[in-house]
Amino acid sequence: MKEKRAIALFSGGLDSILSCRLMADQGVDVRAVTFVSPFFGYELLARQAGHCHKIKEKYGINLTLVDISDAYMAMLRNPAHGYGKHFNPCLDCKIFMMTKAREMMAELKASFIISGEVVGQRPMSQRRDALRVVERESGCEGILLRPLCAQRLEATPMELTGLVDRERLAGLSGRGRGGQMAMAARFGFDDYPTPAGGCILTDPIVSRRIKAYYAEHERVSAADMRLLMVGRQFRLPMGGWLVIGRKESENSILDTLRQPGDRCLVLKDRPGPTGVLRYLKSPADLVTAAALVVRYAKKDIHGHPQPGVVLCLEGEETVEIDIGERDVRETQALTA
Ligand code: SF4
Repeated sequence: MKEKRAIALFSGGLDSILSCRLMADQGVDVRAVTFVSPFFGYELLARQAGHCHKIKEKYGINLTLVDISDAYMAMLRNPAHGYGKHFNPCLDCKIFMMTKAREMMAELKASFIISGEVVGQRPMSQRRDALRVVERESGCEGILLRPLCAQRLEATPMELTGLVDRERLAGLSGRGRGGQMAMAARFGFDDYPTPAGGCILTDPIVSRRIKAYYAEHERVSAADMRLLMVGRQFRLPMGGWLVIGRKESENSILDTLRQPGDRCLVLKDRPGPTGVLRYLKSPADLVTAAALVVRYAKKDIHGHPQPGVVLCLEGEETVEIDIGERDVRETQALTA
């Protein structure tokens, strides 16, 4: 008899929760995995233990996070099936994650994989033919079960051999959420995530930035990808890269994204935005960056930027930069 253990691809959305619960209710030992990259789920890494504990408490699901950043970023440069509307390589993304899950099977002693996909739910990656492509190209034919729509698909070996009871799987399809809501109510879940975008690669503005970055750079890093997703972005004349927070929450995020070698810029005597300056090569860029921080700080009553001193922090060192009206004026071209 095969092990009744499955790896679940777990996005954290309702569908993935329900597919795990459907299996657990049949006595399958479900090991859920959330793959994270700078484009989805990365912030969970900082609170991994607490997050996994919460999922266990709320839904009774054993969860592990797996960071796939480097390999995922490499795939994103040239996905075999191309991109969706933005820079989202949905089909290749699914194939990539299924492949990773398959590679983890031996280690976890799992005999099959489950996913929360529902046939016809998403235009690109969940059409019936797309589901088959994912299965085939990830090497998961015969070992992948989609519990939420299984009754609408051909029976898998797991069902045919009796490892899983097909009668107790679901037959959902399409974009409606009614079936999922009813199922959630049956399981007694009244507090679950709403269907979320979740993936920044489908965001029209940020995905354009990421695409442009890929076009300009042969190598990409998770740290750079994460910095691309926040605040106002500036390419400075001498090659520096400045990001300025637009609100308090972005200033806090920027604080967490600083890397060794980055400069952090803040006003000395009054509150204002945080700037993170990366890849500084010339002192001229440092002055420009400080002037931009002043420019986006609170204006005077006439709506003009107020000159001031900007602190530049790097490691243990702090440098003061005095910014006058002229310095601020000279940033005009960069903000146009
Ligand atoms: S939306 Fe993002 S995470 Fe979801 S399949 Fe597409 S690329 Fe992957």
